[in-house]
Amino acid sequence: MQVVHSRTELEKASGGALVPTMGALHKGHEALIRRAKPLTRPLIVSIFVNPTQFGPGDDWQRYPRTLDADLAVAESAGADIVFAPDAEAMYPPDDAVPVPTLPAVATTPGLEDAHRPAHFSGVCQVVARLFDLLQPSAAVFGEKDYQQLLVVTELVRAEGDRWPGLQIVAHPTIRDADGLAMSSRNALLGSEVRNDALGLYRALESARRAAANGADPGTTERDLYTALGAHGLDIDYAVVRDARTLLQPTPGKPTRALVAARVSGVRLIDNMALESH
Ligand code: AMP
Repeated sequence: MQVVHSRTELEKASGGALVPTMGALHKGHEALIRRAKPLTRPLIVSIFVNPTQFGPGDDWQRYPRTLDADLAVAESAGADIVFAPDAEAMYPPDDAVPVPTLPAVATTPGLEDAHRPAHFSGVCQVVARLFDLLQPSAAVFGEKDYQQLLVVTELVRAEGDRWPGLQIVAHPTIRDADGLAMSSRNALLGSEVRNDALGLYRALESARRAAANGADPGTTERDLYTALGAHGLDIDYAVVRDARTLLQPTPGKPTRALVAARVSGVRLIDNMALESH
């Protein structure tokens, strides 16, 4: 496996499969890397804690950084190249990196877009930069960051021929045995609050069951909110939305429950597909 820190060393990367990450790799990332492996070669894992997607009050400073361990995970999962640039390599002072026009799903749902105002412009900026540099033919993203997955999918669609043939592949959320969605931020949770963090999963599960038993989206959403509150979580949002637009649910169309809440100052997000019968 090759470890690359500068853009000039990337010449042989184009046409490959890309798994963009911010490092502190866990089994969720590992699953994405394994998913990318049969798609095309080379298989590239990028590791970059992108400052432009963090707001002033966010956790960019204390975001976990574990490069040596990450290289071992990436190698054992089958990566050919790890691209781990520093901020200068991604955003050279003499080379402005434009923010692409954001798709509607990045600005209208009132979810991550409302609670982290500059987040998706930073995400689209860095993803466009990675796609321009690496010209991948496939890129794998996790459903864990569901709105981000839709934003990137729509961005690629809207940019048309900028990244010819690029396919965005979605991977389901990987969870710990008890249901907690794996996240690099879980490393910031003390063991005494881990059980509180499980409230996100439990609330989503009860929403999933309610919807499966015939509850309408409004009732399911109220239940979701109540369940999160019962776990004592500080809620940013707890909603049931159309799974494609993230706007209000449309009868007969797939829906998704999405939550964001703070546990002891650590902001966690999770989501789940709802099936009504
Ligand atoms: P991050 O390093 O948190 O920016 O995540 C990099 C990629 O891994 C994104 O596409 C995430 O959605 C995905 N990811 C993070 N956690 C999980 C998980 N538990 N299951 C599946 N994908 C994940």
